[in-house]
Amino acid sequence: MEANHSFVNFSRTSSVKIALVGNPNSGKSTLFNALTGLHQKTGNFPGVTVDKKSGTTRLSSVVTAEFVDLPGTYSLYPKSLDERVTFEVLCNPDNIHHPDITIVVADASNLKRNLFLVSQIIDLKIPVILALNMIDLVEKEGDRIDAVRLSERMGVKVVCISARKKEGINELKQAILQPLPVPQYDFIDVKKFAGDIIDKIKSVITVNSDFAAFQIINNFSTIHYFDTKSIVKEKISALINSSSVDTNKLQSEESVERYRVINRIASECITLKSDIKTETFTHKLDEILTHRIYGYGIFLTILFFIFQTIFFLAKYPMDWIQRLFVIISQWATHTLPAGELTNLLVNGILAGLSGVVVFVPQIALLFAFIAILEDTGYMARVSFIMDKLMRRFGLNGRSVIPLVSGVACAVPAIMSTRTISSWKERIITIMVTPLMSCSARLPVYTLLISMVVPQDKATGFFNYQGLILMSLYLIGFLAAMFAAYVFKIILKAKEKSYFIMELPVYRSPQWKTVGITIIDKVKVFLFEAGKIIVAISVILWFLSSHAPGNRMETIEKKYASVEMTEKVSEKERNAKMSSEKLEASYAGVLGKSIEPVIAPLGFDWKIGIALVTSFAAREVFVGTMATIYSAGNKDNSQTIREKMQNETNPKTGLPVFTLAVSFSLLIFYAFAMQCMSTLAVVYRETKNWKWPTLQFLFMGVLAYVSSFIIYHLLK
Ligand code: GDP
Repeated sequence: MEANHSFVNFSRTSSVKIALVGNPNSGKSTLFNALTGLHQKTGNFPGVTVDKKSGTTRLSSVVTAEFVDLPGTYSLYPKSLDERVTFEVLCNPDNIHHPDITIVVADASNLKRNLFLVSQIIDLKIPVILALNMIDLVEKEGDRIDAVRLSERMGVKVVCISARKKEGINELKQAILQPLPVPQYDFIDVKKFAGDIIDKIKSVITVNSDFAAFQIINNFSTIHYFDTKSIVKEKISALINSSSVDTNKLQSEESVERYRVINRIASECITLKSDIKTETFTHKLDEILTHRIYGYGIFLTILFFIFQTIFFLAKYPMDWIQRLFVIISQWATHTLPAGELTNLLVNGILAGLSGVVVFVPQIALLFAFIAILEDTGYMARVSFIMDKLMRRFGLNGRSVIPLVSGVACAVPAIMSTRTISSWKERIITIMVTPLMSCSARLPVYTLLISMVVPQDKATGFFNYQGLILMSLYLIGFLAAMFAAYVFKIILKAKEKSYFIMELPVYRSPQWKTVGITIIDKVKVFLFEAGKIIVAISVILWFLSSHAPGNRMETIEKKYASVEMTEKVSEKERNAKMSSEKLEASYAGVLGKSIEPVIAPLGFDWKIGIALVTSFAAREVFVGTMATIYSAGNKDNSQTIREKMQNETNPKTGLPVFTLAVSFSLLIFYAFAMQCMSTLAVVYRETKNWKWPTLQFLFMGVLAYVSSFIIYHLLK
């Protein structure tokens, strides 16, 4: 990286334009105040509502400096309005604020992260001074930064300052007056990634460096750079369109390479006292944990352990919660006056609440594990090793945890997508996660599989029931990947995705952070998604317990007059009555009215009712089937199965649940979005009903079409 410098010298010019740039919180404003004192004014950057602070100071008897404080940014990818301003001022030589000199303020106590932006600005090949701020903190910690070496390696002048203590400010001013090297070498060679389009762009527009041309390619659609140069704009647009560059890929390659170079420079120039021991430990551990083969094996083992633990541990509190609600419901039924209000409380509100609270153990456990993985630094490694694979499907490394968590329950899984910073990748992850087979599908699967394949059917190692169950999980996963791929193609996002990965050092988790994460997630779920779930639950209660006209009363009267004989027990009578009531209810009417729509899938109106009621949650299917077939004891899937197997079509006299119908139903439950909790959480996470609606529709269509095909293939 030998620099072949040319110099700019301002000592004879009367006014110098200087821009202050840096990461947020690097102390830029403090430095700006220290430099300009009272000589400041605020305004707007032209055309946008971004605050602009500028000020002047005298550097010598002949030179005055005019400083402009640019919005803080972590990189030169213009993602927000603020960052776009910084990008345009620095990259566009025609911008009225384009500086003669750029002072990059870096937080020296966090230098490695700051060097990303520093190196990008250096690659623009504009005159740069690097101000290492907060040097007081570095000294206090006992760390060391070799500023001379850093200056050599970065090819720019480096001044150590402490803006708050006003130390080094004069040195900085002097540095501005001295001849200043313009960086000559490319920090990283972007032509390696983008090829000859860089030179083509440079032949159309004058830019200082390859990197500036590279940034124009990557950010063409978002910048206003060429608003006044329509011919140039058209030429560049044509160039970009005729080339086959994938800007997402370019940016990720660039950032990976940049971090590689920065890591090397940082290891030469920075000695952190606190990290000397941990870094070697981290390095050794990383050799195993991010290994090309063992890395995946270890990750799978950890996942396996986590899910075993979640299933095993969550079972108990979930049981307690359900039992508690049963006790409360029984108490309410017995003590409160019988009537509509009690009915609403017990079967609508309490049932809805129990459906909310029952998820809490799973959410708490999953987030405890996620927080531990995040806090120890392992999660960053998982994202790192999985990123390449996931990216093909429009997802990213951070989508792995939500997807895998979806096997337990989509609700906490969708809540865990917050860590995905790219909007598009986060939305895709949210949209496809419910296709992963969650635990609520399990009771439905078990019941239906047992109708298709007898329990004892096995050949050698293979248990057929297990095999079908596994296939259903696999189908869910494949459908999720396929859907992600489709979304990747149809979702247009202006924002670019790139993967800046800083692998933190490993450390033991902070239990306070873990605790706070758990409380936070549980609270969000209970109070925000909970409201919607209870509301829908009340609606469904109304639909399944009320009927048009006074049909309910008629049924009750009819059964009240039925004589109890030895053959007909009270239990049986009640079961029959419930069955008839459900049939007469609005849910029943709905089930019957959708029969023509679901008949091509092999479903009759009884299944239709189950489809309507299990919109609350999939597992309600089993309970509804039990009521419809008046199986009396709801928990006994054996009797439900027998009743379902004996069910015959009144027109044909043939069994209703044939192989074709059962498989068709299985596939339907694998794909259809029948979970109001998930929809509520999707709304809460995206703050737009568009997404849950779209999700409901696409999963519905997928379910319908797949069931239709399966039914007609097997019929
Ligand atoms: P900006 O976001 O880059 O404008 O950062 P600010 O100027 O607001 O500074 C962020 C924080 O860092 C503030 O609390 C400052 O007081 C503090 N700070 C700025 N410079 C120094 C410094 O040289 N030493 C120390 N210890 N703190 C500093």
